[in-house]
Amino acid sequence: MEAKKSKKSSITGVYKREDAVNKLSAEETAELNKYIETYLRYLAYAKTERRAYTEAVRLLEEKGFKPLENFKNLKAGDKVYRGYHGKTLFAAVIGKDAVASGVNVVGGHTDAPRIDCKPVPLTEKSGIAYFDTHYYGGIKKFQWVVRPLALYGTCVKADGSKVNICIGDNPGDPVFMISDILPHLGQAQSALKLGEAFSGERLDVIVGSTPVPAAKDDDSVKEKVKLHVLQILKEEYDLTEQDLLSAELEFVPQGMPREMGFDRSLITGYGHDDRICAFAGLQAMMDLKKTPQKTAVVLLCDKEEIGSVGATGMDSTFFENSIAELCVRQEKNYSDILVRRALEASSMLSADVCAAADPMFPECSSPNNMPILNAGACMIKYTGARGKSGCNDASAEFVGRLRQIFDKAGVVWQVGELGAVDVGGGGTIALFMSRYGMNVIDMGTPLLNMHAPSEVASKLDTYMTYKAYKAFFENA
Ligand code: MN
Ligand code: MN
Repeated sequence: MEAKKSKKSSITGVYKREDAVNKLSAEETAELNKYIETYLRYLAYAKTERRAYTEAVRLLEEKGFKPLENFKNLKAGDKVYRGYHGKTLFAAVIGKDAVASGVNVVGGHTDAPRIDCKPVPLTEKSGIAYFDTHYYGGIKKFQWVVRPLALYGTCVKADGSKVNICIGDNPGDPVFMISDILPHLGQAQSALKLGEAFSGERLDVIVGSTPVPAAKDDDSVKEKVKLHVLQILKEEYDLTEQDLLSAELEFVPQGMPREMGFDRSLITGYGHDDRICAFAGLQAMMDLKKTPQKTAVVLLCDKEEIGSVGATGMDSTFFENSIAELCVRQEKNYSDILVRRALEASSMLSADVCAAADPMFPECSSPNNMPILNAGACMIKYTGARGKSGCNDASAEFVGRLRQIFDKAGVVWQVGELGAVDVGGGGTIALFMSRYGMNVIDMGTPLLNMHAPSEVASKLDTYMTYKAYKAFFENA
């Protein structure tokens, strides 16, 4: 008698997050390692949104992209970019179809949580000079004290000229630091709640401690330590105290990104959120071999960490203006309705990181629905908090289409949500883009300790994010 073929149950269970690391071919592993090396080089340089912008423009130009204003007309295969205030960037490879029929966007942000200087930063207390600060983005303040900080920024002098500052990451540079009280005297502090033990006003950064030599014996001179810092700023950067009024000075963690773990499977560094996805989108677009059917657009924007506000944030009209700039160069009978149609017919991967399940904090994770490390790029159908409030909930149809694209391209991907229900929440640029009526979903790299001075991602997930964006441009 013929043996009955054992039939698998038709109930296949939930989507399985695969152990994909060991399934990669030798070629793909080599490609992964090359990609990680390229990304870490970018991350090491792009420690602020301005530097992320500069580096992206440099890479684009190297690959033959030209400023959009240079083009009178656009045709398939043209490679263009359009910058905004040196911080936000729009780049595109023009597709075979008209822009008015919709574009495929991968949009990430290049700002990251940090410690900004106040407009009047320099103060002196008991013989120590400080830069007074106002932190930027959502941080756990205690993570930013007692660690070396580097100072980056741009000062605009009274004559309009700019001075760029970059101190702390070059060999031999000094670093800066926020102090904390020693444990012996910190008993009152230890009794406080974590969120109350470190106040924003206490995050002042030590920038000097010796009096200006010229006034060492002159008791009529006040704040000699502050004066010493001013003297050095004048000598080394030709800056006055007034020049600091018109400046953007950012303290960021000192140091370079590193491989992590005995197996070197992880990468840690400052600013993975969201340079890890922003770079993946950029590289994916630059690596397109063929002219895509639909125009491929990369958006690298600013101010996401403070709510996407401001001219360089995605709540501005920059994106729709840029689409209009494309349409007007393609359509003989240009009109506003074409831009609206283009926006509505577009699709977008909101390229932002997501929270990976941290086994040390199981109570914060969504049971069965948490992104995990080494299971690939993650689609987050909705973010938001407390009843999905404030989120863009992607449609089943759009998720279905993307599933096909990623599976066909051999992308390792997973789905998840932002932590356990009612534990917390957050948002991305997804909702600002979905207001045009386009399909948008969050998709990016899972991180451990997001928003900490050093964030952690897996190499596999980092590479698969790039691969997912490339597949999206090629096939969506
Ligand atoms: Mn982000
Ligand atoms: Mn963030």
